[in-house]
Amino acid sequence: MLVVLVCAGMAAHAEGKSSTKKQQAVRLARHPVVALTFDDLPAGGGLPPNQTRAQIATTLASELRAHHLKGVYGFVNGVDVADDPDEQEALRTWVQAGMRLGNHTWSHPSLNDVSAEAFEQEIARNEPVLAQYAEGRDWRWFRYPYLCEGDTLEKRRAVRTWLKTHGYRIAQVTLNFNDDDWDDAYGRCVAKKDDAAIGWLRQSYLENAAEFIRVGREEQLIAFGHEIPNVLLLHETPFTTLMLPELLQLLDRQGFRYRELAKVERDPAYALDPDAASKDGGPLPNQFLNARHLQYPPFTPQPVERLQSICR
Ligand SMILES: [Zn+2]
Repeated sequence: MLVVLVCAGMAAHAEGKSSTKKQQAVRLARHPVVALTFDDLPAGGGLPPNQTRAQIATTLASELRAHHLKGVYGFVNGVDVADDPDEQEALRTWVQAGMRLGNHTWSHPSLNDVSAEAFEQEIARNEPVLAQYAEGRDWRWFRYPYLCEGDTLEKRRAVRTWLKTHGYRIAQVTLNFNDDDWDDAYGRCVAKKDDAAIGWLRQSYLENAAEFIRVGREEQLIAFGHEIPNVLLLHETPFTTLMLPELLQLLDRQGFRYRELAKVERDPAYALDPDAASKDGGPLPNQFLNARHLQYPPFTPQPVERLQSICR
């Protein structure tokens, strides 16, 4: 839902704000650790014809279960849930499959656009939905929409204090490849029945995933001096649901081991706070790179123009 706004931490990927230095070989861990997370439940992305939100949630959860993954957090925007039985069923399906719910605000505002007080009200307003559907499991994990944590230091600190006071932990991210940027293009190509274009979408999605997983890990070396256990940001969109089995194969080939979010974020790096205002936001290592004016590793940017023009 609401994919108009792009956080600049992510826009940096798109615009190719890369280092011009020649890439040097970087040694990465053989068995990195990752927790998968999914944003924008129960209605991420456009709904293809003849599908329901409940079907998408069912497929996604069963793909995770087939990979022996349980306790995966889905971050919820409750804005339409009360009026939509399909969304209600999607949340029930997700939780009954052994997955968890977290708070992603009621209607997905960027903290750049609202006051700290309004943002806190958005978090609080979402709580009855979580309490209703989480079946007693812990839902006090918070994921900032667009990964924007405050364009002023006052807002950043105020919301962090509110979250702490209300028992929340911040579901920080270390790996993000803007998986949701493929979803609109996929919807258009399905409508046009353009199989060749869908083939390109599948291939470029996986290439982009591999590239930005590498970049995210190298950013940790720069930010922290070593890799940390990862949190991968994904979205509950139809296209990521289609691609998840192949994405999991990619992670397996790269030696990733899977952990639950709470275990990953026990790593001391997650208690570090760059304590810097930023319109850009972004994953935790990016926040440190930006705050300390450190150089990003080189990378191949996302195919933004083709994603926007394909199947028009
Ligand atoms: Zn979101």
